[in-house]
Amino acid sequence: MTTVGILGGGQLARMMALAGAPLGLRFLVLDSTADACAAQFAPLLEADYRDEAALAEFARRVDVATFDFENVPAESARWLAERVPVFPNPRALSVAQDRLAEKTLFRELGIPVPEFATVDTRDELDAAIAAVGTPCILKTRRLGYDGKGQFRIKSPADADAAWATLGAQAARVGLILEGFVAFQRELSVVAVRGRDGALRAWPLTENWHVDGILSASLAPASADAALQAQALDAARRVAEALDYVGVFALELFLRDGVLVANEMAPRVHNSGHWTIEGAETSQFQNHLRAVLGLPLGDVRAVGHSCMLNWIGEMPAAAPVLAEPGGHWHDYGKSPREGRKVGHATLRAETPAELAAALERVGKALGREAQVAPVITRLR
Ligand code: AMP
Repeated sequence: MTTVGILGGGQLARMMALAGAPLGLRFLVLDSTADACAAQFAPLLEADYRDEAALAEFARRVDVATFDFENVPAESARWLAERVPVFPNPRALSVAQDRLAEKTLFRELGIPVPEFATVDTRDELDAAIAAVGTPCILKTRRLGYDGKGQFRIKSPADADAAWATLGAQAARVGLILEGFVAFQRELSVVAVRGRDGALRAWPLTENWHVDGILSASLAPASADAALQAQALDAARRVAEALDYVGVFALELFLRDGVLVANEMAPRVHNSGHWTIEGAETSQFQNHLRAVLGLPLGDVRAVGHSCMLNWIGEMPAAAPVLAEPGGHWHDYGKSPREGRKVGHATLRAETPAELAAALERVGKALGREAQVAPVITRLR
């Protein structure tokens, strides 16, 4: 009996546990909150990620450890890695936790990135704005997610306002200034690397964000072979440089035919949820196969899929369930503004059928605005 330990007990851990059941796996989740939604399917160890006694118990009870959450303290990951195999490795985790470290790595690997500069003081902000140019975005280096910890700077005159908002964070989590990429589309590549170094990437996914939070994903994205190859090449370089094992995602901006890397998620990713029904093997199952050293599954797309995120509260399920290719995922979380509480995936044989299904669902749920950009892309 193999037990997989997961640090973090959110919906990603929950979907991982569901994907692991057919493999006969057991799970143990470590999370600091009693109502972590993965705990509805797996035993929970409720403790702080820095609690050494809890980490020791966790290490005793699991055969291998992985993450649903990248902001687990790097020192906790390292401590665990001395006692039990941890995938991805703590170095990969710590690079992906820091926007400066990951952009520096991308640049070293020849992967295009926006202009960027580190900012530790108010004076450095002015120098960075001069170096990077406007428009630009000031971001926290660490602990930012879903567009939180970001300030958009349109002209140098916005520097005071940006500093007033984020300056206090400079000492705690560091700041980075990034050039604003005037992208045509946002894409992501979700890839998996096995313990033996085998690498596979699912087809490119196109993503739409609202208020910095993922709203919809379409896969396969309309992208030619050259673009797919560019994404695969970037994923391979990053994974090999970090000796990465497991699933990860690269968030990319498409600007004039070039993929510019925004950030890396060292875990299964929201833009890969469509793979549960829309690919031969899901990101969750392949992540488990990778960390356990099992053969990786095929990552081919099966038809055309669109994932719609439910943020804040769950809509009615019936219109999605009534669709022939409709799939419902309720994470069992209590509703809260800005919180990801579930998603739906619509799958169809053709882009036209997918567009028609999205139109029906969007109308029935009063979510026309959410589905509109996807329908436009499909037609
Ligand atoms: P992030 O938290 O870095 O994923 O940013 C959230 C969203 O903000 C991205 O999905 C983009 O829509 C936008 N964004 C972030 N960084 C940039 C950038 N350098 N240029 C243009 N848009 C950006």
